[in-house]
Amino acid sequence: GSVFGHLARAPEDPILGVTVAYNKDPSPVKLNLGVGAYRTEEGKPLVLNVVRRAEQTLVNDSSRIKEYLPIVGLADFNKLSAKLIFGADSPAIQENRVTTVQCLSGTGSLRVGAEFLAKHYHQRTIYIPMPTWGNHPKVFTLAGLSVKTYRYYDPATRGLNFRGLLEDLGSAPSGAIVLLHACAHNPTGVDPTLGQWAQIKLLMRSKGLLPFFDSAYQGFASGNLDEDAQSVRMFVADGGECLVAQSYAKNMGLYGERVGALSIVCKTADVASRVESQLKLVIRPMYSNPPIHGASIVATILKDRNMFHDWTIELKVMADRIISMRQQLFDALSSRAILSCPSKSS
Ligand code: PMP
Repeated sequence: GSVFGHLARAPEDPILGVTVAYNKDPSPVKLNLGVGAYRTEEGKPLVLNVVRRAEQTLVNDSSRIKEYLPIVGLADFNKLSAKLIFGADSPAIQENRVTTVQCLSGTGSLRVGAEFLAKHYHQRTIYIPMPTWGNHPKVFTLAGLSVKTYRYYDPATRGLNFRGLLEDLGSAPSGAIVLLHACAHNPTGVDPTLGQWAQIKLLMRSKGLLPFFDSAYQGFASGNLDEDAQSVRMFVADGGECLVAQSYAKNMGLYGERVGALSIVCKTADVASRVESQLKLVIRPMYSNPPIHGASIVATILKDRNMFHDWTIELKVMADRIISMRQQLFDALSSRAILSCPSKSS
C-alpha cells in the first residue's frame, strides 16, 4: 500500500474551485463569478497595452540578465511601490522609516507580514473583518497568529456596521493586530467613509492596535490611485506604525506574474532597517528570493512618466467598466424584483 494511502480527498478551494467547475461545464452561456479577474466585453482576459509595451522594452534590452534578485527583491520596484501607496511626498518615505520587500503578490505579502509578526510582535492576535476574503483566516492561522473577527457588514442596511466595528475593536486587547481592506472591501464592496476611517484610526491609535492593510485593489474602487490609497495615507500621516500588503494582480492585470510588496512603516529609520534585516530571515527559508519578470514590468511602468500616465488611463477604463456593469446588473435585477428592498431582508 501507499505511504499516503490514509489521505482523505481534500475539498477544492472554495474560490478557485469555482473555476475548476467552470472549466468542466460545457454550457455555452456560462459565466465564471468565482475568482475576481477582469474580463473584456468578450469575456476574455485582458493584458494591458502598457504592460505589453513594458515587456517589449524589457525584451529589447540585451543587457538584461536572469540572475537571482536579492532576498528583498528588485530595489526600484520596492521604492516605487512604496511611493505608489504612501504618496510621492510621504514624510515616512523621506525619513527612511519604511521598509519594502517584494513578495509573491498580495497573498505572499500578507504571509510574509504575518510570519514576521508571529515571530517578533508581542501580540499574536489578529482581528479580521466579518466577512472577509476567504484566504485571510488560513494565511494568518498557518503563520502562527490567532484569528478573531470584528463586525463589518450589516445585512439589514447592506452597508457598514460601523457601531459594531467600533465596539469590537474597542474591546480588542491592546496591541492586537487589525486587518483592514485599504479599499474595495472583498467580498462586500463596502468601504468606510473618510470620516469613519478617521474615527477608526483614532480608536486604534488610542488602544495601540496595529493596522495591517491589505491593498489588493488600489485604483479599482474609484478609478484613481491616490483616492484609493487615502485610508492608508491617513494612518501613515500621524507618524504611527503599520503594515501594508500590496498586489499588482488586479490594477496592472499581472495576476499570474505574482508581483506584490510588503511595506512596514516604522517610527525611525534605525528600526526600519532592523525590521528589514529580520524580514530577510523570514523570506530566505521560504522561497529564497522573488521572481524577476513581473517586478521588472511594474518598475518599468512606474519609472516612466508616459507609461505611468498610460497605465492610469487603462486602469480607469477597467474601473469605470466594472462600476457601470455593476449598476446595470443591479438595475436589471431590481426591474425583475429579484432584489428585495433592504428593509425586508436580513
Ligand atoms: N486580498 C484580497 C482582499 C483579495 O481579494 C485578493 C485576491 N482576490 C488578495 C488579497 C490576493 O491576491 P493575489 O495574491 O493574487 O495578489
